[in-house]
Amino acid sequence: MRVLIIGSGIAGLSAALEARAAGHRVILATRGALGGGSTPRAQGGIAAVLPGTGDSVDAHVADTLRAGAGHGDAGAVRLLCGAAEGAIAALEHAGTRFDRAAGGERARGREAAHSAARILHAGGDRTGAEISRALCAAVRAAEIDVREDHFLAELLGAGGRVRGAEFWRGTGREEIFADAVILATGGAGALYAYSTTDTLATGDGVAAAARAGAALADIEFYQFHPTALARPGSFLISEAVRGEGALLRDRSGRRFLTAVHPDAELAPRDVVARAIAATMARDGGRPVDLDARHLGAERLAARFPGITRELADRGLDWSRECIPVAPAAHYWMGGIETDIRGRSTLPGLYAIGEAARTGVHGANRLASNSLLEAVVFARQAVAALTAPGPWRQGHGTHPEPPLPLESAPAPAPAPAYSRSALQGLCWEHLGLRRDRAGLDRTERILRGWIRDAPSPPRGIAAAEDQNLRELALAITRAARARASSLGAHERADDPRSSPSPRPVHQLGATA
Ligand SMILES: Cc1cc2nc3c(=O)[nH]c(=O)nc-3n(C[C@H](O)[C@H](O)[C@H](O)COP(=O)(O)OP(=O)(O)OC[C@H]3O[C@@H](n4cnc5c(N)ncnc54)[C@H](O)[C@@H]3O)c2cc1C
Repeated sequence: MRVLIIGSGIAGLSAALEARAAGHRVILATRGALGGGSTPRAQGGIAAVLPGTGDSVDAHVADTLRAGAGHGDAGAVRLLCGAAEGAIAALEHAGTRFDRAAGGERARGREAAHSAARILHAGGDRTGAEISRALCAAVRAAEIDVREDHFLAELLGAGGRVRGAEFWRGTGREEIFADAVILATGGAGALYAYSTTDTLATGDGVAAAARAGAALADIEFYQFHPTALARPGSFLISEAVRGEGALLRDRSGRRFLTAVHPDAELAPRDVVARAIAATMARDGGRPVDLDARHLGAERLAARFPGITRELADRGLDWSRECIPVAPAAHYWMGGIETDIRGRSTLPGLYAIGEAARTGVHGANRLASNSLLEAVVFARQAVAALTAPGPWRQGHGTHPEPPLPLESAPAPAPAPAYSRSALQGLCWEHLGLRRDRAGLDRTERILRGWIRDAPSPPRGIAAAEDQNLRELALAITRAARARASSLGAHERADDPRSSPSPRPVHQLGATA
């Protein structure tokens, strides 16, 4: 079978290796160079229950469903957690070197909302970079047709099936046809003014799939990481830092999370992010402090060499001073709706990794489950290529019908479009707290921008803008349809929500 895989993060690379091993002819097309996306940025690690550790798959399932606010699909979650050992074996087979403890066994860290230390890591806090390095080398060594600098513009269909995709390469265009297309193009962090992803996370695959008619699901659930460095040139300060014992303090040095959740700094991400945002709002936008001083310089440098170096590059020494942190957009729980075999609602189209909504993350992803999901569902999708069955086999139900993208005319006038205006709008109204009035205003503005944009877009930047506008509109509608708060989706106008003020964000502010 000829298989076209689009995107070369952990999901696309894993699927390419798996498909090649299964004997398929594999084309791996990706924008930029092989191995981009969020994957190389991943710090903390990959969650996995391994035999002989005293941990259990049942506990990992329970933690995942609890963090996801009960919105996850239990079947998909059980599959995810139960397949972790095989996923780790596949990564190691491809050459990934996980860190080892003194006794030679794989080192295991603890992260927020996990009931056990089950996070495997590599290079201390450079897990994603190590996985990406190993998988890219394995892909280059395999008989895989790698096409770099291929920007996915649209999916191509015929006879009711997805048959390939159109790519842009500079000013040129290329169509690639295949028996099956696996989308692995990652998330859409570029929607938001503050994000831990790179600026190329523009949701292109999700938008193209939606335009082709694929259902999206759970797109209102966007996760905000609690602790990005609150300085220009911001980057993520991993959850594993709190797992090692770092504390969060307000401007008076008080630990504010002990009053919010029994797990305090290790509460689920949405809880911590909202508590930080509320504290910042009370303190006039001043970031909160991450206090890791008691961990000591030696331990910080050994366990978190990448973060220590990034901080030092910015003149910060976290063994001696508190670090200013604030929430930032981090991970999209929603995406292209798939069953547990990675199949979208369109025949011939599969989606894996962050681009997909498999149902494992529910309303709020448990830390370190996304690298695992990418590998597990890449393997599922490849297995499904030759073993088709009824869509949604073993899958849970979805409370809402999927929302199609629309671009109906909107009442003018709208403020002028720019990428940063869109990011500011999304941060303000599709961020940590949403309300009906803000969502209505956002929809009006987005509809105006969509109506006025040149169509079809000319050039890659214009195509990214189109994708961002369409996805923002789809998220707005999904967020409006969900009138009550759940997980990462907090409706300020839900009477059951806490009366905390709208978050204020000043990434440039200093501690
Ligand atoms: C700072 C940071 C830290 C993280 N830490 C962790 C962690 O410790 N543990 C964990 O489990 N998760 C972590 N995550 C989340 C995790 O890294 C991602 O969810 C995961 O890597 C996504 O993998 P992916 O293969 O789906 O997408 P990505 O890695 O984002 O890859 C997407 C690929 O698609 C390509 N692409 C995009 N658009 C197009 C287009 N139009 N045409 C062609 N190709 C395209 C990109 O170039 C890239 O190759 C972290 C995320 C960030 C941002």
